[in-house]
Amino acid sequence: MSQQTTIRKLAALVNTPVEKLLEQLAEAGMKFSSPDQVVTSTEKVKLLGFLRRTHGKSEKAAEEAVSPKKITLNRSRKQELTVGGGKNRQTVDVVVRKKVTVVPPTGKDDGVDPASGLSREEAERAEILRKLEESRQRNLSEQQRLAEEDKRRAEEAAERRREAEAEAERLRKEAAAAAAVVTGDATAAPARRAPHGHGHGQPAKPAGPARDDRSAANKGKAQRGSHAMVAGVEDDESTARFAGQLHLSAADRARRSTARGRPKPRRNVEQSRGGSGGPHGFERPTAPVVREIAVGDAITVADLAQKLALKGGDVVKALFKMGVMATITQTIDHDTAVLVVEELGHKAVRAESDDAESVLVAHVADVQGEQAARPPVVTIMGHVDHGKTSLLDYIRTTKVATGEAGGITQHIGAYHVETPKGVISFLDTPGHAAFTSMRARGARLTDIVVLVVAADDGVMPQTIEAIQHARAAKVPLIVAINKIDKSTADPNRIKNELLEHQVVAEDFGGDTQMVELSAKTGMGVDDLLDAISLQAEVLELRAVQDGRATGTVIESSLDKGRGPVATVLVQQGRLNRGDYLVCGVQYGRVRALFDENGQAVDGAGPSIPVQVLGLSGVPDAGDDFVVVDDERLAKDVAQQREAKRRETRLVQAAGNRMEDIMAQMGQAEQQLSLNLVVKADVQGSVEALKQALTALSNEQIRINIIVSGVGGITESDANAAATAKATIIGFNVRADASARRVVETNGLDLRYFSIIYDVIDQVKQVASGILGMEIREEIIGIAEVRDVFRSSKFGAVAGCMVVEGVVKRSKPIRVLRDNTVVFEGELESLRRFKENVDEVRVHTECGIGVKAYNDVKVGDQIECFERIEVQRTL
Ligand code: GDP
Repeated sequence: MSQQTTIRKLAALVNTPVEKLLEQLAEAGMKFSSPDQVVTSTEKVKLLGFLRRTHGKSEKAAEEAVSPKKITLNRSRKQELTVGGGKNRQTVDVVVRKKVTVVPPTGKDDGVDPASGLSREEAERAEILRKLEESRQRNLSEQQRLAEEDKRRAEEAAERRREAEAEAERLRKEAAAAAAVVTGDATAAPARRAPHGHGHGQPAKPAGPARDDRSAANKGKAQRGSHAMVAGVEDDESTARFAGQLHLSAADRARRSTARGRPKPRRNVEQSRGGSGGPHGFERPTAPVVREIAVGDAITVADLAQKLALKGGDVVKALFKMGVMATITQTIDHDTAVLVVEELGHKAVRAESDDAESVLVAHVADVQGEQAARPPVVTIMGHVDHGKTSLLDYIRTTKVATGEAGGITQHIGAYHVETPKGVISFLDTPGHAAFTSMRARGARLTDIVVLVVAADDGVMPQTIEAIQHARAAKVPLIVAINKIDKSTADPNRIKNELLEHQVVAEDFGGDTQMVELSAKTGMGVDDLLDAISLQAEVLELRAVQDGRATGTVIESSLDKGRGPVATVLVQQGRLNRGDYLVCGVQYGRVRALFDENGQAVDGAGPSIPVQVLGLSGVPDAGDDFVVVDDERLAKDVAQQREAKRRETRLVQAAGNRMEDIMAQMGQAEQQLSLNLVVKADVQGSVEALKQALTALSNEQIRINIIVSGVGGITESDANAAATAKATIIGFNVRADASARRVVETNGLDLRYFSIIYDVIDQVKQVASGILGMEIREEIIGIAEVRDVFRSSKFGAVAGCMVVEGVVKRSKPIRVLRDNTVVFEGELESLRRFKENVDEVRVHTECGIGVKAYNDVKVGDQIECFERIEVQRTL
């Protein structure tokens, strides 16, 4: 029994002829060739959206007659205002009233059902549609206006050119006549003038393209940017005027230009450029001036205009003609910039990679000194509850050499232990998200993965995931079979299960070390440390011991008293107090270094984690750091990176906005979105949460993280959440008083967490709430018509056999012929022998009378179904 809906079925269901439905589907952009094709639920929704839209159009007039044209929403908001100070302080309640009037756009359906009234969301959607339509209209009229303007200019230009040519011709004749009298001086004048003109440093305008297009321009068909056209005209004019200047006195020139009734032009450049000599002092430029414009990853329209020596507005216009809407201050990406540069007749070249960055690379390259063995860096992974945290805690509390008796180790994201076989560094953030997000950022920190598997549980999904992560990163595994203190522990089972995932224990003939231990009692932990040292020896890990340090940020946070704090893992060289460093987009001088005991240290060598104080801001986990010789370079690199990051972000944001609009237009009916503001105590958690939460998006709902970052929830976070109707998530951070006020006034959803899995769970719940209920049909029984009796009293009664499920009198039914719905309705009667019954089960005969349907035939199927509400979930 199939629950899939064919077009035929759907047509019967919606009471529409099959052909009409096919037509409507085609109009909605979904072509079907046969009515027996299956319509998916997405397609149904799409059709529904289409029908709603078109339906609105045709019935607009009628609707307008009965429904109000404006919907006015009054909202009032209460605020407290404190006036006066000291003793006179008073708190006054202020009510802010806001009136919003929504006018449904004309000629376009707003998706509002006048019968059911407007919900706020609907009103907003109507508003968005209206704005979109308005902006489209604006664009259209702007385009029209520009086209007309172009045409007008081209005509004017042609007119002026004709005039100028005539003038030039006349002057040339005059000049030729004069040349007979005054010889020798003819070329000197322009030659002297030329450098003067250039000396102003005024950039020349791209005159060439217009010249080439002259005939086209004469016809009024401007192909290029109008500025080019104008420049071309100016050139012609100046040529003409210049030709005239050759043999005229200053007085003559003054007289002429006033006689021509034109304002004195400020066009020395063109004038002098034209005067490159020749018997008549003039030569037409034979090629357009093509500039080479260096374009980086992104550039603002204003900067590009400056490089092109054009007005910003001209570049905006050129972009507009290419279909790109941008303002002068906006940033456009490399590709768009290249297109517009070429469109304007110039050549785009890739901007040289950042200079400061290349200095830095050279700087780092000359650090290379003597290499020596370095300690291994270990990450612990495994399934939840298998004991990762317990193992890390056990090692930290028992093995980290504390400076003083009773000293407390701190969580700084990593720690190192000294064992008889050497030093080992552990990254202190267990879990896969941290590992993968680091790897995704290109940071290779881990040398060895310790995979924790609980001996009383076995290989679980995250165990397999960890194996895959380690393999993908080409990092060797050591298996820690944990909880062997438990009576239910079965280490051999674990080894066998791991075998299925190509992780073969040494005693099974493989090369993976497996250590049985208990993170609770500490039994076997030393064996694990030995195994790690052994693996490290095999890996022959080496690094430069002295010299300028490089490494990676493991964790970072903003400390109220100490400012930005970053835990870094030194990977090469030695990081010392007083060093200048660049760290992601931050820079600074190392003010202090602390180890995992909170002890101030002077320096840290390879594979050793330290906390760094003194940076200009909070870097991101996964950022690299480099020690440089002087602050100037550190600052330059950091600032350049920051500028680049900002530009990329702008470009991305523009892209996202576009995507949003497209998504809204294309699938307004289908995809919902859940906006989130995510704040956490450390950057690592922010990254992990961002990744995990956005990964929850699917075709039904999109999870947008509109704001994220390290630190408490501030008023601006809350305001952002209010604007975007976002849920606020505080991970180990809290909202401050002003943020709480905004949360309360706006009735925002604010939730605190300390466990990532809880966040994911709850976000799933919230998302499900947004998705709402879905009505599903479930077929509960099918009866086959074996015979048809006709009685004057009951009409047609079908003698049936229930072949599947159960037929219930109270449920709706459909009559199917050749698997096609021919009727949908209710049962009139359901009988077993002469008895009226409520339900008939499978393999039982019964008599069915269908209400208002008498055409039942032998061989038909009567399908009994029910509609159930199902909570949509992620
Ligand atoms: P994680 O989710 O992998 O970090 O696991 P935890 O370290 O939080 O441990 C989960 C539970 O297992 C905790 O209740 C621990 O006390 C317990 N546990 C961890 N290691 C051992 C062990 O070796 N023996 C026993 N009996 N319990 C353990």
